[in-house]
Amino acid sequence: MTDHYEALIIGGGPAGLTAGLYLMRAGINTLLCEKVLPGGAPLNTERIENYPGFPEGISGRELMDRFTAQAKAFGLPVREFSEVFGIGQEEGRFVVSLNDGEFTADGLIVASGSEPVKLGIPGETEFAGRGISYCATCDGMFFRGLDVAVIGGGDSAIEEALSLANIVNKVYVVHRRDSLRAQKILQERAFNHPRMEFVWNARPVEVTGGREVEGLVVEDTVTGRRNTIAVSGVFFYVGYQPNTAFVAGYVDRDPTGYIITDDRCATRTPGLYAAGDVRKKALRQISTAVGDGAVAAVSLERYVLERKG
Ligand code: NAP
Repeated sequence: MTDHYEALIIGGGPAGLTAGLYLMRAGINTLLCEKVLPGGAPLNTERIENYPGFPEGISGRELMDRFTAQAKAFGLPVREFSEVFGIGQEEGRFVVSLNDGEFTADGLIVASGSEPVKLGIPGETEFAGRGISYCATCDGMFFRGLDVAVIGGGDSAIEEALSLANIVNKVYVVHRRDSLRAQKILQERAFNHPRMEFVWNARPVEVTGGREVEGLVVEDTVTGRRNTIAVSGVFFYVGYQPNTAFVAGYVDRDPTGYIITDDRCATRTPGLYAAGDVRKKALRQISTAVGDGAVAAVSLERYVLERKG
């Protein structure tokens, strides 16, 4: 027998947890399935300063623990280590296949977030867990007192480079251009930090080492000259790829894989909504994920009520 819910949320980040909170308060029978543990991408962020309500800033973990506690306080069931690998439709219901079972639902909210992009350079896979990381918050402590490189020039790279700079001896920020795309306030902090050095116009080519990482080979995009930066760790922050493959047959996606919705977070399939970082939109932040979660939940609530008649 397959359990049936009125609403099923895929993903327990800020968007999914907000949607769960709203749906439970609306009296909709809801299940949230999360691939690992609830919290999503902010769990990898040391300090969050641009989510309103916390004038001193708050750690990503504490903020997301609060999101989870609030949703659970309204009775939201959160199924952990429950990964969706496919969805289908039968008799007007969605069928959701997970690694640990199958559920049906009247409507779905896809809030499955995104994964760090891999650069695919030699050494990146070989040294995974031996000096290569995609999460400074998780792994920074292993590099206390050592030199590391951060690849990328966006908000993630600079924010995480700043957090690493408080732990390690030196952070080389390796960027393929000669200016950053990160927010100005982050740029100013980074340029003024005594333990940060910028390597401009540098294309990462290879991670080298023996048992563990010992260097990052970069190529100057202007001269073509190659040079090895001696580091014990390399942190990659070259963007994110949305987790939307499992839903591809039911939604329109842009060339990168982001789900195209209308302003009610509705996809081209009735009853199927998308929220958070998986959505094609102008700004991906916790605040916009929260907004999406609320909008998708209210849209789904109306859909469920209309079906009931
Ligand atoms: P991003 O903004 O897409 O930046 C990716 C960075 O990696 C860019 O600097 C890019 O260089 C570089 N890059 C991409 N492909 C590369 C390649 N093949 N080789 C070398 N470098 C490469 O990604 P993000 O920083 O992870 O941010 C993702 C989203 O989350 C953004 O919307 C961001 O604003 C948001 N975010 C916000 C906060 C915050 O508000 N505090 C924190 C983190 C993330 P180019 O600049 O040359 O393209």
